[in-house]
Amino acid sequence: MIDNTKSHYEVIVIGAGVAGIYQIKLLADLGVDATVLDAAGDLGGTWYRNRYPGARFDSESYTYGYSFSKELLNEWHWKERFSSQPENLRYLNTVADKFDLRKYMQFNCKVEAAHFDEANDLWHLKIADGRELTSRFVVMAVGLLSIPTPPRLKGMEKFKGHSFHTFYWPQEPVEMAGKKVAVIGTGATGIQVIAEIADKVGDLTVFQRRPNWSAPLNNGPISDADMADIRSRYDEIFATCARTPGGFEHEPDRRGFYEVTREERVALWDRLYDSPGFAIWLRNFREIFTDEKANAEFSEYIADRIRRRVKDQAVAEKLIPRDHGFGVQRVPMETRYFEVYNRDNVHLVDISETPIVEVTETGLRTTERDYDFDIIVYATGFDAITGAFDRIDIQGVGGAKLRDNWNDGPSTFLGMLVHGFPNFLMPSGPQSGSASTNYPRGIETGVNWCTKLLEYMWEHGYTRAEPRLEAQQQWADHVKQMYSAMLMRKAKSWFTGYNSNVPGHEHGKIRYFVYNGGTPKYVGQINEVAANRYEGIVFTSGSTPVHRQDRETSSIAEKIPR
Ligand SMILES: Cc1cc2nc3c(=O)[nH]c(=O)nc-3n(C[C@H](O)[C@H](O)[C@H](O)COP(=O)(O)OP(=O)(O)OC[C@H]3O[C@@H](n4cnc5c(N)ncnc54)[C@H](O)[C@@H]3O)c2cc1C
Repeated sequence: MIDNTKSHYEVIVIGAGVAGIYQIKLLADLGVDATVLDAAGDLGGTWYRNRYPGARFDSESYTYGYSFSKELLNEWHWKERFSSQPENLRYLNTVADKFDLRKYMQFNCKVEAAHFDEANDLWHLKIADGRELTSRFVVMAVGLLSIPTPPRLKGMEKFKGHSFHTFYWPQEPVEMAGKKVAVIGTGATGIQVIAEIADKVGDLTVFQRRPNWSAPLNNGPISDADMADIRSRYDEIFATCARTPGGFEHEPDRRGFYEVTREERVALWDRLYDSPGFAIWLRNFREIFTDEKANAEFSEYIADRIRRRVKDQAVAEKLIPRDHGFGVQRVPMETRYFEVYNRDNVHLVDISETPIVEVTETGLRTTERDYDFDIIVYATGFDAITGAFDRIDIQGVGGAKLRDNWNDGPSTFLGMLVHGFPNFLMPSGPQSGSASTNYPRGIETGVNWCTKLLEYMWEHGYTRAEPRLEAQQQWADHVKQMYSAMLMRKAKSWFTGYNSNVPGHEHGKIRYFVYNGGTPKYVGQINEVAANRYEGIVFTSGSTPVHRQDRETSSIAEKIPR
């Protein structure tokens, strides 16, 4: 059992999701005095929350799982190619139990503040339960999609029925049969939940402001024989993920868009439309991401697919995005989503034409009319990437607030460190390799890198690490510069820091959130920094800066704080 009277740790990890679980595993293996704090009631992060019907991976399950343990890989049987939330949560619990990691975790521990004490190179943390903890290092495993954003609607508190954001979908079953249900939002979550509940509710009204491009997930079961085959190929599968830009099994088509005929392009797209997962997005021609004309031709292909699947052509046209092309935002994958609109009990309300004015006691009022509902589901997404950082009062050197420094967008070194905030590690932070890729592949890379940095410091007796301002500036410029070639820079999405439900994050101000250079390039760069004795990072010991070459090294085992 965790001793929660203890007030100091060498490392405090905030967050017990995919990243925090792996981070504590590595620290426990090293015998470091560390704990994990999580605001939630149990481990799992994304997969502990998000219990809405239809919540599932769009990463192939077997590319999402951890790669660090052969034994785990050999034991775990993924039952579906794109596994659902209950199974994903069971997986993370199995991992924690197998490696006996729960004993390091403290739940219902919301970190409200983290202040750096310059005199002692320590972080002081304030927990919502009133405790104050200190640690030499803080690892921010707080998640990039962990702060839900309800819409900003008048009267939300008045509604007498049942209403919730999909992130807070109740743990107990929600009775839907015969009920009048509203879903607000048609992003990745809305598309999953709408498709799943349409035939289970009495009546479903979907409130859509901007449609999203979406394509079939093509999920399927994984039999014992399939799983045996996957197990035998794990090395190859992870090697493929490591060399593809997105960290998935999907490799882009190497042919140039304009080098092949229109017939050849359509033949590829027909094949990809029936292929599982992100194939339609990531096995496509690379020009889809960079060339307006190529993107427009492909978007029109997908628009035609939507028209073929929806009977009422007026509804089909409403479901086709006009303000962005396919794939410039993270593509929500769907299972019979468009067919939902062929059902008599499903209605689409275009709130770009008739906006919601307010929530009433009995439902919703638009500029056109009143609607009565039993349940309102807010599928309105997240304050992505920096939301969880902004919710903590993080103060670094001289009392500088991270939230203020990042007001116009994050600035980081490698997406993992921040100038002015020493000993503050973000294994999957803003501008790191995680957010634009298959997360766990990026997370493992980031956690490994941060852990190696810690080992290096313990080995050398350093008590403080902080990136140089110039090194950070170079990284931030590099991240920004990579947006210039990508069509995604124009999208109203979390790739550009847009969220109309968060004050100040409306359209018009790009925040450079994700690293667009792809997995191999990212890993190459962070490994090079490590190989060059962490070039760009200033290390100090006590309050004395230490030249990296000056100190002798000896067995790290003796030097790790336990
Ligand atoms: C519905 C959904 C489906 C997804 N599907 C995929 C997919 O198929 N493939 C993919 O690659 N990614 C997917 N993602 C992204 C997903 O978030 C990552 O895959 C991964 O789970 C992130 O793990 P994490 O540990 O970084 O963060 P999280 O799982 O978000 O965990 C962060 C934890 O930090 C805790 N925390 C935050 N702030 C504080 C605080 N102040 N104090 C204490 N604790 C705090 C939270 O309570 C949470 O438990 C999906 C996301 C969602 C929402």
